[in-house]
Amino acid sequence: MFDRVRVVLVNTSHPGNIGGAARAMKNMGLTRLVLVDPERYPDPNAQARASGADDVLAGAQVVATLEEAIADCTLVMGTSARDRRIPWPVVDPREAASKVLDQLEVLDSAEIALVFGREDSGLTSEELQRCQFHVHIPSNPEFSSLNLGAAVQVLAYELRMAYLQRQGQPTKMHKLETTNRQNEIPATAEDLERYFTHLEQVLMEIGFLDPAKPRQLMPRLRRLYGRVQINQVEMNILRGILTETQKAIGVQASGERRR
Ligand code: SAH
Repeated sequence: MFDRVRVVLVNTSHPGNIGGAARAMKNMGLTRLVLVDPERYPDPNAQARASGADDVLAGAQVVATLEEAIADCTLVMGTSARDRRIPWPVVDPREAASKVLDQLEVLDSAEIALVFGREDSGLTSEELQRCQFHVHIPSNPEFSSLNLGAAVQVLAYELRMAYLQRQGQPTKMHKLETTNRQNEIPATAEDLERYFTHLEQVLMEIGFLDPAKPRQLMPRLRRLYGRVQINQVEMNILRGILTETQKAIGVQASGERRR
């Protein structure tokens, strides 16, 4: 789904981080990886950290310079853990994702690069100046630098979230419980009336509601229950509690005294 977005890793020293980045990308649906002059690559450590994302690694393009990596790009976002001397438009990963999607939507020929720097020194000022935006992950200012793979993960995640939201696709896994239809169906007005009648009766039986002085108890309880949409399973539970309460105090569910 992000075939026009590439992740560019500049001069990476640890092959494990290349693998970690590939994995983070594949988890979020990104596939295009470009490696600018990696120190050690290919390397078994990259393979090992990629886990199942070997295809992303195998498809990685290796180039000599950042210029080559971004030559055909219409939008280049550079990531940086630090403030640089020259002020530049800075966005957080969420804003960055929104800009990326905006361009993908309006421009058929969009080619977008997310550029990540060296583990020890990040991107140089010259490299950052080749980017239209700087993306800063708002980390702890006293410990601001994330692991390279982790930084790729944050950006890729925001991109995926923004994409899912724009597509109107769910961003949450459905809980297993909702596979039970009764949990999805709200109780009907009739169910609720039957419940309130039963509740009122039990409240009188246990001496909580005095019919001579009802003190707006039932309207208040109706308002309380009205704030949550009770489903059919929950309705059955509530009715069951009333029935068991009546048994415990020696009253038949019909309302007759047992003893
Ligand atoms: N000491 C370097 C840290 C490099 S961390 C520096 O100060 O720039 C390696 C790479 O991970 C960075 O070049 C950047 O691409 C990314 N990264 C790490 N922390 C980040 C942060 N808080 N915001 C944005 N990118 C970050």
